[in-house]
Amino acid sequence: MLTSCANSPTKSQENFFAMDTYMTVEAYGENAEKAVLEAKEAVVNLEKLLSVNDENSEIYAVNHGKSPDLSEETFDLITLSLDIAEKTHGAFDPTVYPITVAWGFTTDEKHVPESGEIVSLLEKVGYEKAAVSGKKVVLQEGMKLDFGGIAKGYASDKCAEIMRENGVESAIINLGGNVYAIGKRPDGNLWRIGVADPSGEGVEDRAGLLSVSDCAVVTSGNYQRSFTQNGITYGHIIDPKTGYPADNDLLSVTVVAADGTLCDALSTALFVMGLEEAEKFCRENGGFDVILIAKDGEIYVTEGLSDKFTSERTVHTIS
Ligand code: AMP
Ligand code: MG
Repeated sequence: MLTSCANSPTKSQENFFAMDTYMTVEAYGENAEKAVLEAKEAVVNLEKLLSVNDENSEIYAVNHGKSPDLSEETFDLITLSLDIAEKTHGAFDPTVYPITVAWGFTTDEKHVPESGEIVSLLEKVGYEKAAVSGKKVVLQEGMKLDFGGIAKGYASDKCAEIMRENGVESAIINLGGNVYAIGKRPDGNLWRIGVADPSGEGVEDRAGLLSVSDCAVVTSGNYQRSFTQNGITYGHIIDPKTGYPADNDLLSVTVVAADGTLCDALSTALFVMGLEEAEKFCRENGGFDVILIAKDGEIYVTEGLSDKFTSERTVHTIS
C-alpha cells in the first residue's frame, strides 16, 4: 500500500497475519515500498522455517525425530536461543515446548494438565540437553523446540536490516507487540511507543510512553495470552523449572535494545525470574534497558531510560 501527500515523504505500509499475530510494517521515503514488501516476505519465510504446526517446517521435522541440515536462519536462532538460555540459567528455554503443548497453549483447548503429566514432561525439558553439531541440532528423545519466545524479535531484526539495506531512514515495525523503530518519524521527532498497563489503571491503559530511535521495544507478560479455569488464570509464559505458568510479583517486562532478538528472549526470561531476580540480572548484565511493571502497581526502569520513558506514575530507578 502506498500513500503520499504534499511535502511529506511517501509512506508504504503492509498489514498481515503471521506467526500467530497481527503485524504492521510502515516505512517512509524512497525505496519504502520495496523495503516493506521485502520485510513482509522475510517474516513469512521465517515462519515457514520455524512454525511448530506447519508439517513442512524445519522445526516440525526436528520436533518429530528427524535431523535435517538446518537453514542458516534456523541454525542461527537455535544457537542464539541456547546461548540466552544459558545466560538466564534456563529462565528462557526453547525446550519448554512439551509443557506448552500439555497446557494446550498451542491449541484452542487450553487446560490445566495433571501434575503427574507435568512431572514426567519436565524430563524432556532442559536446554543443557540440546546442542548444535555441524548444521544439525541434537536433541534427546522426546525433546521439542519452540521459538515462540524469540522468533518475532529475530524477525524484527531481519526487517530492520532490510530497511537499512534499502536506505530507509524512517520506519516502524510492529510484529505483534515486538516493535522495532528505525530512525525518526517523518516529522523528525522520535518514535513514541506506548507501554501497556496490564492492570488497566493507567491513562488509556498505558503505563507510560517511550520515545526511541533505532532500537527494539519488546513486552512480555502473562496477561497477553491466558485462560481461566476454576477461577484461576494461567498465562502462556512457563517457568521451565516447575512446568507451571510463571506466577510472581511481575505483570509485565519491557526490554529496549538495538538487538530485537535479545529483547524478545530477555523479556520472556525476566518475566519468569520475577522482580528481585530480574533487577539483579539487569544490574549484573549490560547492553539493554528494561521497564518492569509489578503487580502492586510500582514501575521500575533502568537508568538508560530515565530521559526516554515518561509516566504519570512514580517510577523507580534500578541502580
Ligand atoms: P513472549 O511472548 O515472547 O514472552 O513468549 C512467550 C511464548 O514463548 C509462549 O507462547 C511459548 O510459545 C514460549 N515460551 C513460554 N515459556 C517460555 C520460556 N520460559 N522460555 C522460552 N519460551 C517460552
Ligand atoms: Mg519473548
